[in-house]
Amino acid sequence: MKKHIAVLAGDGIGPEITNGGIAVLEAVAKKFGHAFTFEPLLIGGCAIDATGGPLPRETVDRCLAADSVLLGAVGGPKWDRLSGEIRPEKGLLGIRKAMGLYSNVRPAKLWKALADASPLKTPLVENGIEIIVVRELTGGIYFGKRGSFEDGACGETAWDTEQYSVTEIERITKIACELARKRSKRIVSVDKANVLESSRLWRRTVHSYAEKHYPDVAVSDMLVDNCAMQIVKNPAQFDILLTSNMFGDILSDEAAQVTGSIGMLASSSLGDGTRGLYEPIHGSAPDIAGQNLANPIATILSCAMMLRDSFGLIEECGAVETAVARVLEEGYRTADIFSAGMKKVGCRKMAELIAERI
Ligand code: NAD
Repeated sequence: MKKHIAVLAGDGIGPEITNGGIAVLEAVAKKFGHAFTFEPLLIGGCAIDATGGPLPRETVDRCLAADSVLLGAVGGPKWDRLSGEIRPEKGLLGIRKAMGLYSNVRPAKLWKALADASPLKTPLVENGIEIIVVRELTGGIYFGKRGSFEDGACGETAWDTEQYSVTEIERITKIACELARKRSKRIVSVDKANVLESSRLWRRTVHSYAEKHYPDVAVSDMLVDNCAMQIVKNPAQFDILLTSNMFGDILSDEAAQVTGSIGMLASSSLGDGTRGLYEPIHGSAPDIAGQNLANPIATILSCAMMLRDSFGLIEECGAVETAVARVLEEGYRTADIFSAGMKKVGCRKMAELIAERI
């Protein structure tokens, strides 16, 4: 199989971790007889430095022409003081929108070999955790109308709006229901329906759509504040969490931390077709950038999701996940997941070890 992959390394640790992902994809190509080509493109702070904006037109055009996209991370202190329109994060939101990627799937899994890395007590995690957050990605408050104005008495005042349509809610519900059918057939839909009108529409729509099209899938509801608490109280109760853009952003980071390190968590973003955008859920980690300290596993597992969800290469995806499990079982650890008695390795070595085990 021939596939062309656009690589948006971005800022901070982005180049280090995407290099790790490429090394593993090259090992997969060699082992299974595929031909993958990689095209580096600019996004985020490095794009601002080179072109004046976070998402050059060329990046959008080339991503739309590629079979899939691998992204590192964007942002860093260098660009923190820029105005909203030319901030690095704008590039991220822009590429998701331009590619029509409305669903974001973030599996938070506690790997057996890393049980000690979870901050929760053993009885809470000993039976394993695998929470998949299905997050709506192109609507809600991150894309709603916003503004600021001078209020005489109170000073500068700013506002953002949360807005959802039935169409937006139905298409993300479909993604969650399809996933549920391959797993526990249980979805917990998370909202704030006791307060927000948009959440009440979310709740009504999720139920009516799922009952009509997926009667075999059981949907229950949970308020977001309770969900945040339940993730640390009893994470094993969850399989699929379906939620809005902002709630999904926050809950998936929480779920990630419960499973050990944010450096382990992958994500895939898809729209209607098979071309997706695959990225770790963490940021550009400026505190460790350029020091060969980053954990590349989140990016490598994102590449595994690309193989499965964009290219339909199920066996190849399994080979990557098995290689990651083996390296962890053999005791190799990057600094973020290191514990006494383990073998500490850097970003490059970790990727190399995984590639060797494909
Ligand atoms: P972050 O995820 O970059 O870092 C949080 C902490 O986790 C840091 O201590 C970091 O060292 C550590 N960490 C993150 N990834 C790691 C990895 N792979 N291996 C080892 N340790 C890792 O979040 P932050 O510090 O809040 O944000 C830093 C920058 O990243 C900001 O500019 C922010 O806007 C940006 N950001 C980008 C994305 C993205 O590109 N998708 C997401 C979140 C934050």
